[in-house]
Amino acid sequence: MRNKFAAYKNELLFVPLGGSNEIGMNLNLYQYQGKWLIVDMGIGFANDYLPGIDVILPNVEFLQEIRDDIVGLVLTHAHEDHLGAVPYLWDEIHCPIYATPFTSNFLKLKLAGEGLTGKLRINEVSLGAKIELAPFSLEMLPLTHSIPEMHALAIRTDAGVIMHTGDWKLDAAPMLGPVSDEESMRRYGDEGVLAMVCDSTNVFVDGESGSEETVRTNLKKVIAECKNRVIVSTFASNIARVETILLAAEEAGRRVVLAGRSLHRVLLAAQESGYLKNIQPILSEKEAEQTPQDKLLILSTGCQGEPRAALTRMVQGSHPNFHLRSGDTAIFSARVIPGNEGRIRWLYNQLVRMGVEVITDKKDSIHVSGHPARGELERMYKLVRPKISVPVHGEASHLHEHVKLARSLNVPEAVEVRNGAVVLLKEGSAAIVDSVDSGYIAVDGSTLISLDSSIIRSRRKLRDDGNITISIVVDNQGRVMARPQITAPGSLDAEEDEAFIVELQDEIVDTLERLEKRSKITVIKDKVRNQLRRSMSREFGKKPVIEVHIHQI
Ligand SMILES: [Zn+2]
Ligand SMILES: [Zn+2]
Repeated sequence: MRNKFAAYKNELLFVPLGGSNEIGMNLNLYQYQGKWLIVDMGIGFANDYLPGIDVILPNVEFLQEIRDDIVGLVLTHAHEDHLGAVPYLWDEIHCPIYATPFTSNFLKLKLAGEGLTGKLRINEVSLGAKIELAPFSLEMLPLTHSIPEMHALAIRTDAGVIMHTGDWKLDAAPMLGPVSDEESMRRYGDEGVLAMVCDSTNVFVDGESGSEETVRTNLKKVIAECKNRVIVSTFASNIARVETILLAAEEAGRRVVLAGRSLHRVLLAAQESGYLKNIQPILSEKEAEQTPQDKLLILSTGCQGEPRAALTRMVQGSHPNFHLRSGDTAIFSARVIPGNEGRIRWLYNQLVRMGVEVITDKKDSIHVSGHPARGELERMYKLVRPKISVPVHGEASHLHEHVKLARSLNVPEAVEVRNGAVVLLKEGSAAIVDSVDSGYIAVDGSTLISLDSSIIRSRRKLRDDGNITISIVVDNQGRVMARPQITAPGSLDAEEDEAFIVELQDEIVDTLERLEKRSKITVIKDKVRNQLRRSMSREFGKKPVIEVHIHQI
């Protein structure tokens, strides 16, 4: 234990390293008696500010400092924003991992894909398990969500009980798995809960999130009315939804084929965990080709318009097996995740132009959220009755609104956190008492880089302004030995701007000839750079990234 926290050894501390500035990348820590418990370790998805980067991770420098005192990592469920970072960060922790069968199977398949089989200690625990990780005693409590086996954690210590909700909703008919264990929530509430660390995703949504049962009824109706071929896209990990689609297909007399690697993986994890036992057999791609099109349903990835997903490739005509035709129907049983609006609109419009009928949750109720709306949050607060509320799983505005909601529900204390905050969970003095290093790391190919790395900064500049590179050969007197070579990807067109490039070469040669003999390389470079900058600005009003290479012979 670092001295920094020695004063808090006998107090409960909560430290979010991810998920409290954003929806995604969840990583939460609890400290008691100098020992640390980690709950979840997820990824986030990058935006346009990070060109070439898809995945971001929480900065875990702090985990290295406490590494010897970590008692375990417990995963609440198998969503990427809760376990996706394990393959990248497992080397930082080397502690045992605890997960229920579906989550564990899903993680193992993911690790196998990364060549990490057998390297991590994953302890599969039963549904509703109790786990002793002294000084923490954990009870896993099932809550409904958009994936099987989501569990809240009741974390018991001598300093009080924490209810870590994970992602949840209160769905009375989830279609797969048990309903939320409201009785246990109430039992903990009766006993007394010190703090609740709770999902804020839909704090701006009034009412209830809605039930999977409604979606099942509606999707069956929509699919039964389809004529030619049907393509349905949803979040692969929503196994109840996948089951709904399989059942709806069966009722409509359609066979099902999968398009997208992640669907195959999730279905395998589900079946290994005992789900989807009574579904019709899935067709191979070859069998699908031989099936009449009006007897076929393609269950596809790509509901967010992901560039490499199966549905996007079908739209682009680059999918090896499936080609869309006029008269097909594409059903999106998903919501638009903020940030993906542009590419989803592009996808819808492409489909419409191809003559494909597009059905979304805008017109038909064929999707419900997996997160609690305000009505469910209010119910949860009435069950658990915490002394302290700590909203997480949200951007600053979500957490701020959730704090206001908690106060309106007479929770005595509510703390508005951010990643890296060290929160003292103590009745009467709950507050942020310190902070630790936090932030983001970008996954760049097979390496991890800092977000303010020069690689990302120059990539952004190159994307926005293009580049111009000039190579010049001079002798030891500084005389130009050959015509300078110029390339300008992203700033000039090699054919259309050819005349300008020739002019530029002449100007550079003139400039260099006017230089004193034996000028230093740095002086030559500066002259050339300034010349290029002036010319590009004068002719095109552009400021590309300029690279000057001088070869002296
Ligand atoms: Zn989540
Ligand atoms: Zn989730």
